[in-house]
Amino acid sequence: MSQQTFAELDLPARLLQNLDSLGYQSMTPVQSQVLPLALEGKDIVARAKTGSGKTVSFALALLAKLDSSRFAPQALVLCPTRELAEQISEVTRQLARTTENLKVLTLTGGSSTRTQQESLARGAHVIVGTPGRIEDHIRRGSLNFENLNTLVLDEADRMLQMGFLDAINRIVEQLPQERQTLLLSATYPEEIKGVADKVMLAPEFISVDTAHTAADIRQLFYHVEDKSQRLLALQLLLLKNRPESVLIFCNTRVAVSEVTQFLLEKKFSAIALHGDLDQRDRDQNLIRFSNRSVSVLVATDVAARGIDIDKLDVVINYELSKDSEVHVHRSGRTGRAGETGVVWTLYDDADQYRMEKLQTAYHISIDKNRLPPLQALKEAPVIPPMVTLVINGGKKQKLRPGDILGALTGEGGVSGSAVGHIKIQSARSFVAVERQAVQSSLEQLRKIKGRSFKTRAL
Ligand code: ADP
Ligand code: MG
Repeated sequence: MSQQTFAELDLPARLLQNLDSLGYQSMTPVQSQVLPLALEGKDIVARAKTGSGKTVSFALALLAKLDSSRFAPQALVLCPTRELAEQISEVTRQLARTTENLKVLTLTGGSSTRTQQESLARGAHVIVGTPGRIEDHIRRGSLNFENLNTLVLDEADRMLQMGFLDAINRIVEQLPQERQTLLLSATYPEEIKGVADKVMLAPEFISVDTAHTAADIRQLFYHVEDKSQRLLALQLLLLKNRPESVLIFCNTRVAVSEVTQFLLEKKFSAIALHGDLDQRDRDQNLIRFSNRSVSVLVATDVAARGIDIDKLDVVINYELSKDSEVHVHRSGRTGRAGETGVVWTLYDDADQYRMEKLQTAYHISIDKNRLPPLQALKEAPVIPPMVTLVINGGKKQKLRPGDILGALTGEGGVSGSAVGHIKIQSARSFVAVERQAVQSSLEQLRKIKGRSFKTRAL
C-alpha cells in the first residue's frame, strides 16, 4: 500500500506548511482514512489502537474549519484524563502555530475553576477538557457553545469505563445540533454504539490497525506461585534484562503502591502513577519517567491510558488483566511505530483460562519462560541516564525552553547534547540533563536571562 501524504488533503495552506515544518509528511493509516471524510464534514466513529495517530486526525479536522477571528469556542474535545487533555492541547497548539491568535484552552480538574473562568472570559477557540469540569463550567454559565461546530470524543471507551456517560450526554444536550462529531476509541464495546447513535448523525465507521497482537510484539509469560514470588520475579527480570524504560501494569492501586514500595526498597529508580496522587505529583512523575530520569513507572490502566510515552523498552504485567482486551492494550504500549516490542507477564494457576482466551480469541502466541536464576540478585539496579532538574519559574516568569537551554549551554556550561526534554509549566519548569552534567547544570541555572532562579535535582 502506498503511503499518502498530508499534501493530498484539502487543508488550508497555513496548516499544510506547518505540518511540513513539523516533519509530518505521510499520514498514518488512521489519518489517511479519517481525514478525507472528516474534512468533508462527516460524522465519524474511528477505532484504532493506541499510538496510531488519532490526535492529529481530529485536531487537523477541527482546525481546518476554525475561524480564528471569531473569539468563541468552536470546537470541544472531551477526553478522560487531565494528562491526556494536556497532551491533546499541546498537539493542537503545535498544529495551529501558523494561525495567529488561536487560543486552545485546557479545562480539567486540578486547577482552579476561577482561573479557568478568567481565561474563558478572554476568549478561546478550542476547548479541551474532561467531562466533569466542562459540565461544571456549563452549569456556572462560564462556557457558551453557541458557536460550536465540532465535538470530539477522544478515548470514548475509557470515558465510558470511568463513568462519564451521563456527563457526556448532559454536555451534548447543550451543544448546537448542527455540528460535526468525531468519536475516537481504541476498543469498541457495545456501549459505544449507544453513544454514537445518540450523539451522531449517520456516522462513517472506520476501523484500522486494531490488531495489536502483531507478530512484532513478543509475549513472554512467567509462572509465579504467590505474591512474594511475584515481587521476586519482577526483581529478577529487571536485574537480568536491565531495561532503561519500563512500564509495569497492576490491576489495583494497592498493588501499584506495594510494587513501587518494594522496588524502592530494592533501590530501583521507580515511581507510581495512580488516581490517588495529587495532580502536581502525577505531572511530575510523568515528566520524570518520559524524560528518562526514572526507569520504572508503575501504573494502573486508568492512570496510564492515553499517555503517549515513547521508547518503552518493555511492558510488564505484574498481574494479568482480567480483561483480555486490556491485556492487548497494555501490550500495544511497547513496539510502537514498527519497532519490536516485548511484554513480560507474570501469571499463576488461576490465570489458565484467561491465557487460553488470549490465544484463541486474540491470537497471542504465549511464550512460557523460566525466570532468571537467583544470581541476578547480585546485580545493581539500572541507573537512569538522565536527571530531572526543577526550576522555580515558568510561564508566569516568561521562561521559554530556549531560555533554559541558553542558560545551560552558555559560557562555561554543558554541551547541548547533555540536555534532554524541557517542560515549562505555569510556575515551574523541568529540564532533563545527563547524570554527569548535573553539578554544572545546577550552577548554570542560577541565572536565566540575567534573573536569579532556584533549581534543584529531583
Ligand atoms: P493515538 O491517539 O492514536 O493513541 P497519538 O495521536 O497519541 O496516537 O500519536 C502517537 C504518536 O504518533 C505521537 O507521538 C505522534 O506525534 C506520532 N504521529 C502522529 N501522526 C504522525 C505522522 N503522520 N507521522 C509521524 N508520526 C506521527
Ligand atoms: Mg489518543
